Amino acid sequence: MGRVFVAGSINMDVVATADRHPKVGETVAGRQVLYFPGGKGANQAVAAARLGAGTTLIGRLGKDSFGAELRTFLGEQGIDLGYVQETADAHTGTAIITVAEADNTIVVIPGANALVSADDVGVVPLLKGDVAVSQFEIPLPTIAAFFQRARAAGVTTLLNPAPAQKMSGELLALVDILVLNETELGFLAGTELADGDEAARIIDVARKRQARADQTICVTLGTRGVLALAGREEIAVPGRAVNAVDTTGAGDCFVGALAACLADGAALPAALAFANAAASISVQRMGAGPSMPTAKEVKAVL
Ligand code: ATP
Repeated sequence: MGRVFVAGSINMDVVATADRHPKVGETVAGRQVLYFPGGKGANQAVAAARLGAGTTLIGRLGKDSFGAELRTFLGEQGIDLGYVQETADAHTGTAIITVAEADNTIVVIPGANALVSADDVGVVPLLKGDVAVSQFEIPLPTIAAFFQRARAAGVTTLLNPAPAQKMSGELLALVDILVLNETELGFLAGTELADGDEAARIIDVARKRQARADQTICVTLGTRGVLALAGREEIAVPGRAVNAVDTTGAGDCFVGALAACLADGAALPAALAFANAAASISVQRMGAGPSMPTAKEVKAVL
């Protein structure tokens, strides 16, 4: 059984709730302040670890109280934190979220996440059969260095290019499995993709962006499940009908679950069905980290 190595962001999400958003220059009294462990890297590592995969997180925290709290939380999830360094040069990544009138505003300060370097990913012990995972909340040259090492070691590379930003053809060619939503695929392809687009059109757009003939592109479609193009093969996994209460972190749950299942040696179609089921459980619970299911819970619905 392989391990999951996630090189990515670790944030503290600070959520303020209020009856309405302040106007520019205005102060309003809020109702509550809540603290949630977040960051796509941390969320995906939590998902993989909860599902039973040996999981190592590579990232950076500041030398501050958020950093200490996050280290405790992530350690409690069973994640190996031996490659999470503390830096004195920046604060722990923080997202300031204001929730009011069923809408939110978010300011993310990357802080220590912006300092995750090629040296940080250069020392992790990758072995054939492992899965290397990353997202776009750490510097892209670091991801390229991580994936170059991974591929040289016979490790599967899995990229979740979120939040969307431009990436080079060289980086895309280092990716074995790309997992992204419709909006991110549209951004990557330089075309508009709308909710409800036909499967044939989505697959067509994905095919045009395949950087290698053997590359897999998985497009998550929310309630509609997932569509994948694996080399020339098309795989469709329909969405599961559930009562969704909070979809925050659904994409992160999907990525972590897919990586965990592949590291366990599953074939892609089975891993996609597993990840789709895991994510459908996560949307029935509040929050990102706390909503990630266990393997037993996923197997019970499959
Ligand atoms: P987010 O940014 O909210 O984390 P995302 O846009 O990255 O999500 P989605 O495509 O919305 O990703 O969701 C990822 C996966 O989660 C879907 O492919 C599906 O498996 C599952 N999922 C999401 N929403 C629902 C839902 N309402 N019902 C069932 N499954 C869902």
